Amino acid sequence: MGLNVIMMGPPGAGKGTQAERLARERGLLKISTGEILRDALKEQTPVALVAKAKMDRGELIDDQTMIAIVRDRLMRPDAERGVILDGFPRTVAQAEALDRILEERDSGPLVVIDVVVPEEELVRRLASRRICSSCGTNAGPGDKSPACSRCGGVMVQRADDNQEVVLERLKIYQHATRPVLEYYRGRPTFRVVNGTQAPERVAHELDTLIDDAASVAVPVKTTTEGAL
Ligand SMILES: [Zn+2]
Repeated sequence: MGLNVIMMGPPGAGKGTQAERLARERGLLKISTGEILRDALKEQTPVALVAKAKMDRGELIDDQTMIAIVRDRLMRPDAERGVILDGFPRTVAQAEALDRILEERDSGPLVVIDVVVPEEELVRRLASRRICSSCGTNAGPGDKSPACSRCGGVMVQRADDNQEVVLERLKIYQHATRPVLEYYRGRPTFRVVNGTQAPERVAHELDTLIDDAASVAVPVKTTTEGAL
């Protein structure tokens, strides 16, 4: 039985790092919308060309296009064992579409994780976040080295991470994702993790929560199976 996980949480909550670890340890495909969009553009898929035309006109990518891109990715063989979604769904329309896609794929339960971190802590984290000036790698939590762990480049403060910008990004995130959280909150597979803890603690809690949620889950596919 596969497993599908949605990682929700504001920028700076550390969900990207956790998503990567989970994907590695559980053999799941990590899907972040930024990455698959870039890949789709590279491959020049028809739907990616639609997305590119929109972006070139300075428009946001609409739900239908985003859903088509994610759907395309989810239907490939390497997503069969399950996926970890980071940055999707962003709207209720996307969440509804995802339910339909998962039902079609029939590959195990969907666990939704909300990584919660208080605003002051997020501001503190984001305002001290550093990035490699050569390769763009983010400094890991607690990494104080002046050189990039990947390429040895010079680590610098992220230009867009001053307090005001951070607060504005958080506000936008909360406004946009509240309806999606409400969409999932009532499900038996919805779990909240305290993202203020050290990354290893978060990882441990996540593992427990995901296993627990998956064990109470009915598969997303709700039709016919029960009758067999
Ligand atoms: Zn680097």
